[in-house]
Amino acid sequence: MKVIQHSVEELQTALVSNHQDLVKDYSKYTEEERRLLEEGLHPGPTQLFQCITVHSDSDWIPAHPEKLQDFRSFYKDSYRKIPNASHNTIYIQTIGSFGEAGVHTDQYVEWLREYCQAFFYGLSVKLLPAVSVAETRCTYRVNSISHNLQILTGDLLSFLGKRKPRDAFCIVGITMIDLYPKDSWNFVFGQASLNMGMGVFSFASALLLRSCKTMTHEIGHMFGIKHCQWLSCVMQGSNHLEESDRRPLDFCPICLRKLQVSVNFKIADRYKALLQWIGEDQSPASRPGDTAACHSVHAFPKPTEAFHAAKLWLCRCLDILEKR
Ligand SMILES: [Zn+2]
Ligand SMILES: [Zn+2]
Repeated sequence: MKVIQHSVEELQTALVSNHQDLVKDYSKYTEEERRLLEEGLHPGPTQLFQCITVHSDSDWIPAHPEKLQDFRSFYKDSYRKIPNASHNTIYIQTIGSFGEAGVHTDQYVEWLREYCQAFFYGLSVKLLPAVSVAETRCTYRVNSISHNLQILTGDLLSFLGKRKPRDAFCIVGITMIDLYPKDSWNFVFGQASLNMGMGVFSFASALLLRSCKTMTHEIGHMFGIKHCQWLSCVMQGSNHLEESDRRPLDFCPICLRKLQVSVNFKIADRYKALLQWIGEDQSPASRPGDTAACHSVHAFPKPTEAFHAAKLWLCRCLDILEKR
């Protein structure tokens, strides 16, 4: 295990930059917002933000050396995509059924949609009518080892390109079917094998957490945000499922600033929307520590047990932003 430790100065430059114009823009954040963002300059196990730990050479960073993207290189990237009034909707296209999640597919996808809408706060997220695998006319195969049906990724992307509505900022396809990028690859996306003995909700919970991470990571790239090597962050690259599960649910301050300038939200509003999605009661009576808030019962409960740590984390962020 190796901890990637950047100095305070390096992180400061990555977040604020040394360039006058960007320093000036940064100073427009409120004092509380700056306090929150600067929590990232002092990462640690009990802090809001953590350092990245590399567990083995098969982890993303050692396996795929990439150039670090600080806030300035993101901001100045002429290829990055910025949502505007006529392109401000993220579309989600489901392909095929969600297998064992079965009867709950519609509900499950709706949770994902709501999560993305809170995460990319200020943009709207819409579902396109689901399509079957056959309708996509993509090349597919049956993997000789896993015997799973697999779709060729490139075909799926060109299918999505054709489905993209005019007002789309981007379109993302979600499927429970394995994907493969090339004939020579045995690539498996997600966890397709399900244990019979598992409760649908505990399974769906891990699945939902994982889907939320993967989905927001992929959409993050569409803004031009590259893999994060600054701090532990949902934008870290991941080479395998275990590494992907290790990523936190949300952005580090450097990536958060990248998203914030693209969409222009108040940081606290975004955290509140995420908290609300998890199911936190916004009334001042139910702050963390108040266990009643953690067990609120809904007619059709969202499987958010796996989001418990994220909920506490969001409350700590809001404590800073709202001086609670
Ligand atoms: Zn990525
Ligand atoms: Zn980051």
